[in-house]
Amino acid sequence: MRIHDDIQLDYCDVLLRPKRSALASRSAVNILREYNFKWCNRSLQATGIVAANMYTTGTFEIAREMQKQNLLCALHKHYTAQEIIDFLKDNKTTHGSNDLIFVSSGVSDNDFEKLTTVMDTKLIQNICIDVANGYSPYLMDFVRKVRNTWPHALIMAGNVVTGDMCEDLILNGADIVKVGIGPGSVCTTRKLTGVGRPQFSTVIECADAAHGVGGMICADGGCTVPGDVCKSLCAGADFVMLGGMLAGHAESGGEMSTKIFQPGEVNMVDNEHCALALVEKQYKKFYGMSSAYAQEQHYGGLKKYRASEGKVVELPFRGPIEPTLLAILGGLRSCMTYIGAKRLKDMPKCASFYRVNRQLNTIFGNE
Ligand code: 5GP
Repeated sequence: MRIHDDIQLDYCDVLLRPKRSALASRSAVNILREYNFKWCNRSLQATGIVAANMYTTGTFEIAREMQKQNLLCALHKHYTAQEIIDFLKDNKTTHGSNDLIFVSSGVSDNDFEKLTTVMDTKLIQNICIDVANGYSPYLMDFVRKVRNTWPHALIMAGNVVTGDMCEDLILNGADIVKVGIGPGSVCTTRKLTGVGRPQFSTVIECADAAHGVGGMICADGGCTVPGDVCKSLCAGADFVMLGGMLAGHAESGGEMSTKIFQPGEVNMVDNEHCALALVEKQYKKFYGMSSAYAQEQHYGGLKKYRASEGKVVELPFRGPIEPTLLAILGGLRSCMTYIGAKRLKDMPKCASFYRVNRQLNTIFGNE
């Protein structure tokens, strides 16, 4: 039995080391990067943060908010082709282009047909192909087919966690490989199957492999705070995909609910003034796309041979998403000044990490 002995780390196992730098303030850094790809012949100006193509985060409403900040969004797979086309037509007028939007696809014949309907309009050229297990031969075949059909499209494909597979996907037509198996906030793959890899180590290895053959990576899942996004970019991720951090907002998908708490049942610090009255709190559902709930909602029930690999959570409603996005970008700018990186692309070059046993002081809670 082979055991891979080298230590595998998550974002919470490391902290960035600050460095003396000539950057006087946060406004001296540039968080816009010009991306040039291996296969796609267009360049892209963006800050590489992507809303996950989950039903709850890959929404049209989130896409519009992401674009305002030069961030990206992978639309979820459950919109119809017509709904996507209508959105793209409108977005092209209001935002000016659909360059920051990905249309998502699985690897079935039906998925290809739907993708073709959308691509035929020429309204969009960015495609995100994803399956839970990117080691399946179907993914590689599908990437090749999509590349042959649309030679100049921007193709992101995944998910995998090893360098060899990143290289193969890129050589077979992907511009960006999506990496991460099991780090997600509502993912239970590791619990159910025992398969996965700590995300920080995944990013380091996959970025190195992808860059070696002219490709890029998108680190998908496992970011819980803006600092994790910074660590990911410093570890070599070209793009970082976020689910949980963007969930629970006004623009997110998912059912809203209200819970009523008896006096004293809720946190007295938050609700001091109403400790003696009933307290109403709003929640928004967030769920894994392989959860039994998602399969019931979107695929007519959990098939017998499939297990649920995701969970459902009720998040306290967080209001509009814009302040959350600005906080992430603020954290990013500040990180860049701490490590002396003037440009987004310089972050890995400027970064070094401490391995830590404990990164946060939680004496007054986890906020
Ligand atoms: P987060 O940012 O919430 O930590 O992770 C988001 C990512 O989790 C998604 O982009 C996707 O790759 C992954 N994910 C979403 N739903 C599920 C699920 O039901 N099961 C698993 N294994 N992963 C999921």
